Amino acid sequence: MLITHDTRCALDTVVDLVNSAPEDDSAPDGLPDVAALEVFVREHAVSEVGVLTDFDLSAVRRLRSRFAAVFAAPDARTAAGLINELIAAAGTTPRLTDHDGYDWHVHYFAPGASVADHLAADCGMALAFFVVAGEQERLRRCEAPDCRHAFVDLSRNRSRRYCDSRTCGNRLHVAAYRARRKEAAG
Ligand SMILES: [Zn+2]
Ligand SMILES: [Zn+2]
Repeated sequence: MLITHDTRCALDTVVDLVNSAPEDDSAPDGLPDVAALEVFVREHAVSEVGVLTDFDLSAVRRLRSRFAAVFAAPDARTAAGLINELIAAAGTTPRLTDHDGYDWHVHYFAPGASVADHLAADCGMALAFFVVAGEQERLRRCEAPDCRHAFVDLSRNRSRRYCDSRTCGNRLHVAAYRARRKEAAG
């Protein structure tokens, strides 16, 4: 499937957003305050965002759980239902743009949308394309036992199982290796 630059950016943004959620009740939130949300918006080059408030922060956090559910969806129909809901709530105004030197691409968020509605529309549509392409199963959660990070599997044969092979994948290999050695040692 063809993944354009802006879709790729939207995917990176939604994955980072979902993974900013605390892993459990005692873990820190990756988006603890409005300042952290400002950094997030800047680092992900989310365009046309005005002054952010506590209202934006709580709206983005609510949206974050809705996106997390999409990555946890067991099948395309469930994912489609969740994506439809969050896009409908945000409202969309598709329009062509070539801002900041990028080639022509479509923005879905309505002009003047809040940052949460902006992310819901554009990241929601990026995820929608995976369902349309029959590739919903590429939207995954890491299979490492103590990690539920979201990721998008862009490998050719959809074989990726861990969020970041340098950490989760490796750690599992090491654990399996140690277990085998222990067994061999009797
Ligand atoms: Zn754009
Ligand atoms: Zn992981």
